[in-house]
Amino acid sequence: MNYRAFHKLSYGLYIIATEHEGEKVGYIGNTAFQVTSEPSKIAISSNKDNYSTQKIIDSKKFSLSVLKKEVETSLIGKFGFMSSSDIDKFDGVMTKRSVTGAPIVINSCVAWLDCKVLDTVDVGTHILIIAEVVDSDIISNEEPLTYDYYHKKYKMFAPKNAPTYIDKDKLGDEPEPEPEPPKEEKKEKAKTIDENGVFTCSICGFRYDPEEGDPSAGIPPGTPFEDLPDDYKCPICNASKEYFKKDL
Ligand code: FE
Repeated sequence: MNYRAFHKLSYGLYIIATEHEGEKVGYIGNTAFQVTSEPSKIAISSNKDNYSTQKIIDSKKFSLSVLKKEVETSLIGKFGFMSSSDIDKFDGVMTKRSVTGAPIVINSCVAWLDCKVLDTVDVGTHILIIAEVVDSDIISNEEPLTYDYYHKKYKMFAPKNAPTYIDKDKLGDEPEPEPEPPKEEKKEKAKTIDENGVFTCSICGFRYDPEEGDPSAGIPPGTPFEDLPDDYKCPICNASKEYFKKDL
C-alpha cells in the first residue's frame, strides 16, 4: 500500500468550535464534508483525545469556520497545536453567535456554518459527528485555505490527532515529486543547506529553511537559523528559538 496516495485527497482547513457550560473550545480540522443537501448536513471526524470532541457531543452543537488562504499563522498555532484545556484559544479572537449559540470564529475566515449535532459514530480513534447546518454565511470572497497549500507553504503534514495523519515510516523515503529546478540553482541550494541546515520546531513541526527565510517575520532568504534574532518565534505555534532542533 502506498500511503502517499492519501495525500492526493483534497481538503480544506476549518476552525471547529463550541461552547459548553460557559467554556469556549475549538480546534483546527481538515475533515469536514457535506453529506446531504436537503436538509443540509455535514460530518466531521474528531479525535477522541481532543479536548473539544466531548464538548461538541455534550453541547450537541458546533460552528465550522472556513479559514482563508493567507491565514493568520497565530490562529493555526493556537487552534491547531495547543489544547483548549491549557489556554483560552478565544482570547483576542473575534467571534459571533447564530442559531445554536456556538462561537463562530470570524478572524481569517471566509465563511461559516452553524451546526446542530444529529448523530455520532464511533470509528475507533475518532468520532464521526453528523450535524444539520441550521445557519451559514459568507464573511469574505477571499480564497479558502486548502490542506495542500498549507502543507506546501509550511512543509507540514497533519498533526498526530488528525484523521488524515500518516506515520512517517509508512510514507517511506520516496520524496514528494517536485519540478526539477535549473541545474545552477540546484547546486547553490545544496551548498546553502549543507552550510546552514534546516531547523524544525519541536512543538508543531514547522521547518525553518534558511534558503527561504521567513517572509512572514521579515527574515530574508539566505538567513541561517543561527543569525535569527533571539526573540524569533515559530510562525505557526509561536514557540521560541530554543524549541527548534537541527535536522540531521
Ligand atoms: Fe512551531
